[in-house]
Amino acid sequence: MRLADKVALITGAGSGIGRATALLFAEEGARVVVADYSPEGGAETVKQVKAQGGDATFVQVDVTKAAEVEAMVKTAVGVYGQLNILHSNAGIFPIEGPSYEMEEDMWDRILDTNLKGMWLSCKYAIPELIKGEKSTIVTTASMAGIRGRAYRIAYCSSKGGVVMLTKALAMELAPHGVRVNCICPGGVNTPLIRPEGMTEEEFGAREVPRTPIPRVSDPREQAQAVLFLASPESSYINGQAMMVDGGDWAGTTQGIRRAESR
Ligand code: NAD
Repeated sequence: MRLADKVALITGAGSGIGRATALLFAEEGARVVVADYSPEGGAETVKQVKAQGGDATFVQVDVTKAAEVEAMVKTAVGVYGQLNILHSNAGIFPIEGPSYEMEEDMWDRILDTNLKGMWLSCKYAIPELIKGEKSTIVTTASMAGIRGRAYRIAYCSSKGGVVMLTKALAMELAPHGVRVNCICPGGVNTPLIRPEGMTEEEFGAREVPRTPIPRVSDPREQAQAVLFLASPESSYINGQAMMVDGGDWAGTTQGIRRAESR
């Protein structure tokens, strides 16, 4: 087991990538703190972890609120006595529209959750992480943190910020033996991007022609990358933004498509 004796705190673990990571971490022996503002989602994740024989505790938190994030970390350490891994992952992706029409509230909500929430989670977790040896932080950025996207100015800005937060923290925490990396997912089959009314199966089967692996990913495929970055298997990897995007960022398959259509 790759995470035996470890305690992992995962924000946004009530759904999607965070839930998949909680399940995979527990399979690998970690005790898992499931943090989310949705009590229903959090309870479901804890239920699933326990059903597979793992140990998990739910903590309700709004990652935009410093006092709640501080309490989240206190609860984690209170229950399990230590903290070794933080997966700072909670995020939102509301419809934005043109940048010049977006309300200030929308900008604040997205930046507060996706960027400030990541910083707050790190801020309160770091003093606990540096007490142990070889602790790790994995943040969830996005392909949108590397590549611009129309009508997504706040989301792209927040995720670009997460990439740089990750790199800056990696520099700061290296002397403490804490590695910090992020994943940059492409499309993932979660409620965040699944169109309303479409089932998980239908969405998972949908083709994404632009992507070299022409489909969205399963949340577990993101969790596998988080596990790698959180575990000693990536012991010399630090400050990296790992694209988990089916090859989308690497280039284009346009040449093949053109040749085949001739
Ligand atoms: P999801 O909606 O399935 O899960 C997100 C979870 O975060 C939810 O359980 C939600 O309750 C929680 N959350 C939201 N705001 C919160 C807050 N203020 N405090 C505490 N919890 C909060 O989405 P997901 O796809 O699993 O997204 C996880 C992360 O992955 C996000 O940061 C998202 O931006 C990123 N991401 C997702 C995709 C994708 O295609 N799904 C692609 C790139 C990046």
